[in-house]
Amino acid sequence: MRLAQSLVCPAVALALFAGCSPARRNAVDAGPAPKNAGDAGASSAVSADASASTPPFVYSTESFADLRILRYQVHGFDALTLKQKTLLYYLQEASLSGRDITYDQKFAHNLLIRRTLEAVVNHKGMPREPGEYRALVTYLKRMWFSNGIHHHASNRKFLPEGLRPETFAALVREVSIGKLPVAPGETVDQLIARLTPIMFDPTIAVQTVDKDASHDPVSASANHFYVNLTRAAVLDFNKAHDQKGDPTPISLGLNSQLVGKKDGSIEERVWKLGGMYGTALGECLRWLDRAWPIAENEAQAEALRRLATFYRSGDLEDFDRYNVAWVKDNESSIDLIHGFIETYGDPLNMRGTYEAMVELNDTVATRRIRTISEQAQWFEDNSPIAKAFKKEKVVGINARVVQVVMAAGDSAPAMPGGVNLPNADWIRTTHGSKSVTLGNVLEASEAAQQDSGVLEEFAASTREVERARSYGTLARALLVDMHEVIGHASGKLSEGVQDVSSTLGHYGSTLEEARADLVALYYLLDPRLIELKLVPSLEVGRAAYDSFMRGALVQMARVPVGQPLEEAHMRNRQLIAHWVMQEGASDGVIERLERGGKTFFVVREYPKLRKLFGELLTQIQRIKSEGDFESARDLVDSHGVKLEPELHKQIIERYRALRVAPYAGFIQPRLIPVIKDEQVVDVHIEYPTDFAAQQLEYSAKYSFLPTVN
Ligand SMILES: [Zn+2]
Repeated sequence: MRLAQSLVCPAVALALFAGCSPARRNAVDAGPAPKNAGDAGASSAVSADASASTPPFVYSTESFADLRILRYQVHGFDALTLKQKTLLYYLQEASLSGRDITYDQKFAHNLLIRRTLEAVVNHKGMPREPGEYRALVTYLKRMWFSNGIHHHASNRKFLPEGLRPETFAALVREVSIGKLPVAPGETVDQLIARLTPIMFDPTIAVQTVDKDASHDPVSASANHFYVNLTRAAVLDFNKAHDQKGDPTPISLGLNSQLVGKKDGSIEERVWKLGGMYGTALGECLRWLDRAWPIAENEAQAEALRRLATFYRSGDLEDFDRYNVAWVKDNESSIDLIHGFIETYGDPLNMRGTYEAMVELNDTVATRRIRTISEQAQWFEDNSPIAKAFKKEKVVGINARVVQVVMAAGDSAPAMPGGVNLPNADWIRTTHGSKSVTLGNVLEASEAAQQDSGVLEEFAASTREVERARSYGTLARALLVDMHEVIGHASGKLSEGVQDVSSTLGHYGSTLEEARADLVALYYLLDPRLIELKLVPSLEVGRAAYDSFMRGALVQMARVPVGQPLEEAHMRNRQLIAHWVMQEGASDGVIERLERGGKTFFVVREYPKLRKLFGELLTQIQRIKSEGDFESARDLVDSHGVKLEPELHKQIIERYRALRVAPYAGFIQPRLIPVIKDEQVVDVHIEYPTDFAAQQLEYSAKYSFLPTVN
């Protein structure tokens, strides 16, 4: 599971937590001096580094379309041993080697479009003035940001705005044919004719994941997981692999594409060495095979070896063996998330989109999360959910704050705020799970957002603003931590009920995120947090409640007028906010304040709101535990999808006036080896400043897939 954009993206994070600097966070934590202490009053995009000799770190670089490009730092890299640095470098290469897979999975023509556009840009250089060529480059930048031509959050196709098809054609014709991804025997004009409708026609390949209940989610989705198939055909195919009653079910379909043949049969193309995506996975393997011999310890070596074994065999039982080994590797400083993990990109929640993330433990912040983890049983015992659905023994929660060293595939450039894996319920129950908060990424988004004015615009009072400034950062950190550590880990399924992906279908991920958020929200106002010295007062919880409701308003700015919510985390937030407003209406729990044509959600009764969070949690836990599809659908469809048109328009206008792009993504740090006599003798870390240059470099170095897969 990812705790994604809802917390990292400016639209929400800003509204929730603007004004709280990393320096203040550390003061509240009473930890050691912050490594990049920003002056609380300093300007947003730059941190005032304590050392006079180092220039301040620039957090934000550019904006285009609805996107902002930020940077983040890895603290303490220089203090690592050469062996650790070398390991990180190998893992970086293993991560980037699979980059093309994500593009191909999201849409069969993504690599064709990207390679054509990159050939144009490599030929012409970066545009110096506004115009249609710049529009082409902006379109390519958006594509890099989303790993394809569908928006990373709405999953909707975006068009090359400001670029006419005839200009596109003329620009492509300037490039020599040898540099273009033409098919064998194809002319440049034929290539252009093939690309033009795919890029410019708004009715073709509209959604990469289509969750519209009136469409067939398989045939209507433009992703490349299924070819010539319908939902019914896929479900029928799955019947042959029925795992009902199996205590250790594999993650069926996680690493394959299904293709409907003319004779009505279905071919399964497995992603493995020698199979589909085999050339890219072979490159990943080359680096993984170098990495495990220099692992920090045997548990880590075992996990990396098991991952390599899985890529060689494509056997999902090997994937489970890998996950078990990975969960056991919890003493290492370095960790890796790599491969086909999350299923958000598949309307049936089965197939995993390629992603990779290299992490380094953050020992200071980990202390806070450990405290929560150690109390997991207390939280479970005191939860409002029905006793029958509580875990008697919460197993193996391994919670940490990490620093991301680099990320690739579906984890970048837009990055999550936290990750909780593995996803298989039986492994989580039997062997435990790992939950990480991505500390340096969250810190960077915050640092970049201090001046935006979103908090002042959407908070109803100066009191709310002050509360957010004083406690917002800690509230956010705790929300993320508790969501991951005690949220996803809480509760159990009734006997014989299968995983949410099989019982609740595409409602599963929305409700799972809602459940985890509700556990966190419920406890954020619990005096127990004061006893545990996690918070100085319940003002932290109140700040969290204010910001959660405010965030439900602000996130509307990220969705175009007239469109419903598609993304699981956004649906979850909308669902919770809408439900508590409705249920708390008669008690005046939340006031909908209209002032000067502006709408505010103001929390009036904090303890009552806490009670409502508990009630909704109880309902959702029951739905998950019993696999109650009808209730899941009713809850999500009636509270989490539709937006009030007038309010939606108002929010977009207010947000637009602030001129803050609603989504943020990151340029990745770059590990550069110093090689002598074929040995890595040192590794430097660099922080590139040019988003386009980084993406062009990636494409030049890590294009390991054919254009058609
Ligand atoms: Zn989550």
